[in-house]
Amino acid sequence: MAFKHRNRSFRKVLVKLTNSVTTHYKKRNPAKAQCGRCGKELHGVPRARAVVLRNLSKTKKRPERPYGGVLCSKCMRETMITKARAY
Ligand SMILES: [Zn+2]
Repeated sequence: MAFKHRNRSFRKVLVKLTNSVTTHYKKRNPAKAQCGRCGKELHGVPRARAVVLRNLSKTKKRPERPYGGVLCSKCMRETMITKARAY
């Protein structure tokens, strides 16, 4: 592997071959998805590169509820209540 990959931007992945182990350099995963209102970590949202996400179905990328993948369940509930009260 080229020297340009031997830095902290890439992560090392040890790959077992038939009778030896080599190092592969892969790009790091993006940060965990956060709630747009409180900043809490979102569950059910995969942490992977776009290349991997492209092959996932829509239902595996975010929870199936209003604001799924944008707001956490608590903030979603509060937002829905305040929106309902506005009228
Ligand atoms: Zn939240």
